[in-house]
Amino acid sequence: MLDIQKIRADFPILSQTVNGKPLVYFDNGATSQKPQIVIDAEVKYYHEINANIHRGVHTLSQLATDAYEISRGKVKDHINAKHAHEVLFTSGTTHGINLVANGFASILKTGDEVVVSSLEHHSNIVPWQMLCEKTGAVLRVIPIDENGELIISEFDALLSEKTKIVTVNHISNALGVINPIKYIIDKAHAVGAAVLIDGAQAVPHLKPDVQELDCDFYAFSGHKMCGPTGTGILYGKEEWLNKLPPYQGGGEMIKEVTFEKTTYADLPHKFEAGTPNIAGGIVLGTAIDYLNEIGFDKIQEYENELLEHATKRLNEIEGIRIYGNTKNKASVVSFNIDGIHPYDVGSIIDKLGIAVRTGHHCAQPIMNFFCIPGTIRASFSFYNTKEEIDAMVDAVKKAQTMLS
Ligand code: PLP
Repeated sequence: MLDIQKIRADFPILSQTVNGKPLVYFDNGATSQKPQIVIDAEVKYYHEINANIHRGVHTLSQLATDAYEISRGKVKDHINAKHAHEVLFTSGTTHGINLVANGFASILKTGDEVVVSSLEHHSNIVPWQMLCEKTGAVLRVIPIDENGELIISEFDALLSEKTKIVTVNHISNALGVINPIKYIIDKAHAVGAAVLIDGAQAVPHLKPDVQELDCDFYAFSGHKMCGPTGTGILYGKEEWLNKLPPYQGGGEMIKEVTFEKTTYADLPHKFEAGTPNIAGGIVLGTAIDYLNEIGFDKIQEYENELLEHATKRLNEIEGIRIYGNTKNKASVVSFNIDGIHPYDVGSIIDKLGIAVRTGHHCAQPIMNFFCIPGTIRASFSFYNTKEEIDAMVDAVKKAQTMLS
């Protein structure tokens, strides 16, 4: 059992009032809140060891480099990568996906196929469209059904020897649906395609094991898992990272530069040009330690309780429709109320201190599928409570009365 009150005390922002009401923060899918230990670690870095990494012989530079590389090692252990050099620091999921899509421009030919799903965030659609425009490859899309689940028989039918990469999210940000990624990875590999998993919405809720999954790439953001903004990780299998060209050129990513020919640094540095978010990278390790100390088993068990409670309570509301009707769901409830625009509900409940996200959640194809402008999305974290969910349900009922 988690001691929720003790956990909540770790997050200074949660004791705030917003619009004169206690803050109820249900926008965790957009970004998580940060525990004091993470905030302190960021301050400590700038107080005590701020220096550029991998360059200096001086003590501070070595301390910063060591801390940065220790953090990389923590991420490696956390996701069970085989090697630390398969773990690249990025600025977030978007950066990681673009890095891979850019690299595939040197691999794809006209007529090759890239498979994405209808459940993707724009970050996992647009880079592949740009890649297809550049190379003449064709984008193929796995459809979804009314429950918001991928139609797996259609995925099977899309695969062929033309498929070069399949890219899907682990958990949908708009609906919370958990995708059958192990099946997708194995099937894609059977036709020789690589697989990228967008883990942005998974890492706050579970611990991915990239070797067990056998994915070729796994991208995620630090800020959704209690870490700082502007941090992220791209895991890539060594053989793939060796095959792809660098994403950006600059300092740090080279072995030797002459005007005739430049040779690139070994992994991971080949993909880490320029001065990175050093403090952020180090502090991401602190965030991962914090989450592991709580324990992902306990986090998942508790968040499932929150999801169940929210689904039951919201279903009391007349005219509600919850999107993503599946048992395979993370702690996200995406809904609408008959005849009311989601934005209006979001604005009214904000006045009552409740932060939810309204709109298309950077997933317009899903909204188009359901023929809606957007949804109200409440995404829960392990520091939320059932009482907060009750407060949201009361607030939504109030909004419904006002708007009907
Ligand atoms: N993929 C998914 C599923 C997301 O939910 C998000 C952000 O919400 C992203 C990608 C993009 O993440 P970032 O903005 O941190 O790069």
